[in-house]
Parts: sequence; structure tokens; C-alpha cells
Amino acid sequence: MYHRVHTPQTDPWDLSVDPAHFEEQIKFISTNYTIVSTGELMQQLQNGNIEHKSIALTFDDGYIDNFETARPVLETYDVPATFFITDSNLTENRPFWWDELENIIVHADQLPGHLTLTHRGETISFDLGDEKLLGPNLREKHKFYRAYNPPTKRTRLYVKLWKVFSLCTKGEQEELLTTLRKWAGLSNDELEIEGCMDLDELKILAKNPLFTIGGHTKTHPFLSTISEEHQRYEIAENRQVLEGATNKRIDQFAYPSGNFDDSTQKILKEEHFLGAFTTNNGCVFTDTDPFEIPRLHIKNWSARDFKTNLNNWFIKW
Ligand SMILES: [Zn+2]
Repeated sequence: MYHRVHTPQTDPWDLSVDPAHFEEQIKFISTNYTIVSTGELMQQLQNGNIEHKSIALTFDDGYIDNFETARPVLETYDVPATFFITDSNLTENRPFWWDELENIIVHADQLPGHLTLTHRGETISFDLGDEKLLGPNLREKHKFYRAYNPPTKRTRLYVKLWKVFSLCTKGEQEELLTTLRKWAGLSNDELEIEGCMDLDELKILAKNPLFTIGGHTKTHPFLSTISEEHQRYEIAENRQVLEGATNKRIDQFAYPSGNFDDSTQKILKEEHFLGAFTTNNGCVFTDTDPFEIPRLHIKNWSARDFKTNLNNWFIKW
């Protein structure tokens, strides 16, 4: 499982693989493993004959670097891959909320010293103290930070707000972002962040028979926190947009943030999806539930580390 092939300023969720490392990784697996498409994997699962030492590649969300950086490498090595796309950012040409939020809170050169934010009747209050200005020391501390262990006030505020945002509707997220931008003194066009591919790029990607497009909801919610009706809307609308853009049947799905409940699976089955991918770590066996296919989170490893990790996984499972 990949998300980004890029070298961002910071990577709080450990989701980016550097382009040079990515090429090393693809080169390595293309010569040492059998690479199958996720469609073939699902077929093998259905037939009860998973091929040993075979790998299927997936990319979640629909970042522009998937198109610009990963695609040419995959084409060079003739490697199939599936891209699970959240369409609302794509059609609106906006970055994902978690990137915008981080851009304001962690990367803004200057912020006011105190934030007071009211959301659903609750007040969030946070003091930035001496971290109002983003000096070289703070930049250095942010370089390799991870969200599970935020080292500064700014990164702690980001994680705190991330938790609030992750349970919001898209409308609420947009309102909060507008408030935060205003608070930070930033205008909408000051967003120097890379976003998603656009519909034309998605169409080009989908045209290549090496690549499969899969569903990843309309707005990337935590599905288990919303009603069944709302889940159905997120899944069906997303499929409709993707099918309209690609002229292909969308019958594979990846749960946003790996989050789902019984209703999610019920909807996917009723909507005749063939299967769905989680973010749980693991390999696929003949008895794997096609609606809970585990994946392995690929990190920014050199070919050597990648090889070690792959070997360990194939021994472990
Ligand atoms: Zn995602």
C-alpha cells in the first residue's frame, strides 16, 4: 500500500516514499516477485489459488504525484497497480483537508499566539507561546516528526485539530479551514501544497490497461462514524463520478483510513463490489475475506530495507 511518491517538507503519517526509493522498490519487486493486478488477486482469491510470492500494488487517495511520478516508473517496469480515488478533491481541484490543515498550523511562517475555536458548541483553546514564528529551530524539529509523537506545540495543535476534523462533515471542515486561514492571516491562494490529480489526469491513468481505478468514497470520511444512508451516498456517488470519468466499471474499494463497520460491507456487497482493502498489515491467503483484504504499508525505504521488510513479511505470514 502506497499513498504518495513525493518528498514533502514533513510527513506526519509516514505516507510518502521518496521518488528515487520508489523506483528502487519497483525495480526490485519487478525482478524478484510476480506482480499481479488487484483484479487478478481477487480472481485468485475466488478460485482459492493464491500464487506464492506474488504482489499487488495499491495507491490510496489520488495524489498528483501518483500520476506524475509513480505512473512513469510503473509504466517503465510494466507493473500493474490500482489507484483508489477520493473524487471530491479531484473535481474541486483542492488539496486534502489534512494537508491544508498541516500547511496552516505547522508550516505558516507566522501565527497569532493564541487560538480559540468553537466547534459543535465546544471551545478549543490553544496557546502557541514562543512558536508563533517559524524559525530555523522549529523547522528542524518538524523535519521528521510523526503525528503519534508530536514534538512541538504547533505539531500538537495540528494533531489535536486533526482529531476534530476527522469526525466532521466536509462542510464543517471547509468552514473550520476558512476560520483557521483567517486566523493565520492567509488567503485561499496562498496554498503552496501539492494536491490531487484532476479528472483529465485520472482519465489518462485509467486508459492504460496496466492500471485499475477503485473507489475510496467521495470525501474520505471515517465511515463507521456516519449513518448507513450517508455511507451509501459516499460510496455510490464516488463510484458514479469515477465510472463517468473513466468509462470503466468500478468494483474494488479501499476503506478510507482503514475504517469501516458492518453497514459498509453490507453496502459494498449490495452494490456488487468484488472486494475491499483495509489498512491492516498482512498477506493474503486463500481464506482471506475479500471484503477485508489486508495490505502492507510501504515506507520510505531504500531497496535494501525494502528487501529486508518484504522477506520478513513473506516469512512471517
Ligand atoms: Zn485514503
